[in-house]
Amino acid sequence: MNKPTQKDLWKANMLEFLHNCHIGISHLECSNPNCPLVLNWGNLERKNSKKGYGALVKVTKDKFLTVSIQSYELNGLEEPINLTIKYRDGKEALVRTKAEQEELTKNLTPEEKSQLSFIDPSEVVCFFNNPTHRPNLEGAEEIYLEDLWDIKEKIKWDRDKSKKKVFLHVENDPSKETQAQEIDAAEKDYLFYIADPSTTNEIKKMEIYSPTKGTEERKQLHEDYLKDFSELRRVFGIRHLTSKKEDRQNNPEIELNEAQFVALERDKWRERMKSIKEAKDKQFCSGEHKLTYGAWQERQEAEIEQVKEIQENQKEPDPAQELEQKLAQLEKEKGGGK
Ligand SMILES: [Zn+2]
Repeated sequence: MNKPTQKDLWKANMLEFLHNCHIGISHLECSNPNCPLVLNWGNLERKNSKKGYGALVKVTKDKFLTVSIQSYELNGLEEPINLTIKYRDGKEALVRTKAEQEELTKNLTPEEKSQLSFIDPSEVVCFFNNPTHRPNLEGAEEIYLEDLWDIKEKIKWDRDKSKKKVFLHVENDPSKETQAQEIDAAEKDYLFYIADPSTTNEIKKMEIYSPTKGTEERKQLHEDYLKDFSELRRVFGIRHLTSKKEDRQNNPEIELNEAQFVALERDKWRERMKSIKEAKDKQFCSGEHKLTYGAWQERQEAEIEQVKEIQENQKEPDPAQELEQKLAQLEKEKGGGK
């Protein structure tokens, strides 16, 4: 296998970062402190984000595992059936009822039978990322990360090109060695001139080129990068969690995005709630579950902050009231002087 390039590493890190933005946005709580759902929630969200689905398997009464779903079909009620799950060690198991197991194995030799591993549907709960069972960042790499990398490379190139340069005008062609030394020094933004008494190549003129202009293009590239990045976030439903202020600006475009985020997250919330209910029905956990989704939690926080801001503003003295107080004070002083 080829060694990964800088670009490969950057793309992989970027995807990981973006997935984490999705994975961290839902929050599950349970009245049972040892809730298997809560304990596996991060792993389940990881599967959901990267593959679009995953499953929780009850191995024993208190041992639960998050597994991958290799394949599944949907029946007429849109319930997943004929599942094949895969454990982390690579072993696979078919999720089938007793009757289905018998039907499947009736014509098999004992040896063939021993190759198959079965698990009952009552021991498995599927989790889906959204109503279409798709992963979170489908196509992000091809569509956006390629472009973003290109812009990054251009910024790097532009940064290099606008470094300070030193031109030395000399009488004769300098030797290769001197040239190399000078170029070397100039690239580091400084120049050592070593006086050599044997040199006959007098420097006639020295020019130092220090770019003061020419950063506009880089500025434009930075803007392009941010624009591309924010489009990526919008298209793939990634909220900006670090700077809530930006999202809250009174901007109709941002308001529009907000609505889109909320719709996406509501869909995701519903999909997860179905599975949580199924897990309760299958007696994985009898606790009371509360699932909050990023948007709502964040909105609540934002609203609380807004109320605080309004209260802060109200504390500031009202100029009319202040004037009134002053007048009253003067009136009092006048009264006192009588
Ligand atoms: Zn629970």
